[in-house]
Amino acid sequence: MSFASLGLHQDIIQQVTELGYTTPTPIQLAAIPAVLAKKDLMAGAQTGTGKTAAFALPLLHQILRAKDSNNAEGIQVLVLTPTRELAQQVHASFIKYSAKLPIQSVVAYGGASINVQLDALRQGCDVLVATPGRLLELIMKNLIDLSKLQALVLDEADRMLDMGFIIDIQRILKKLPESRQTLFFSATFNDEIFALSKTLLKDPQLIEV
Ligand code: AMP
Repeated sequence: MSFASLGLHQDIIQQVTELGYTTPTPIQLAAIPAVLAKKDLMAGAQTGTGKTAAFALPLLHQILRAKDSNNAEGIQVLVLTPTRELAQQVHASFIKYSAKLPIQSVVAYGGASINVQLDALRQGCDVLVATPGRLLELIMKNLIDLSKLQALVLDEADRMLDMGFIIDIQRILKKLPESRQTLFFSATFNDEIFALSKTLLKDPQLIEV
């Protein structure tokens, strides 16, 4: 199986080829077609399995398609991560995969200047990668418009719950459009994770690698 046979946009295939990716990893093989089919996803995957590209590549494809039909206004994709380190890492991956695409990724996390992050948002943002606390601050101060959001990713959801972000996440969810696609990634599953996923996902496809 190749990236081309998964139905990704030619420009994305070219970019991953330049990065030296020849074969999709198992999580990518399972997740990419599901995301392209606009399914919600409940994915069990550890770091190092290629999980970032598993959601980033098909979401970039969706944004490109929306731009092709002049239908991509505002923040299209929101990725929530438990830590600023992971936020920076995921943001760097989006930049790497969209280097030659007309797509802007912005990262926002606590402990850094909110004004710098706001400037970046104002210059145009298709993909926002954020930690829950800083995102909530931006939402509560009415500094961000998420009304055009098409897809939400919860990355390392188990760590987000372990770190006590459940209330923040629930407050954020109330501000997001209901009609979005939601992708849920977690290294481990327990009752609390299943409970959260049930409130978030519509008829999800389960993937475990
Ligand atoms: P992740 O699990 O998202 O942290 O990715 C782990 C590492 O695998 C990253 O350094 C990626 O650049 C790399 N990677 C992701 N997908 C592929 C692929 N299909 N082929 C080769 N390397 C990959």
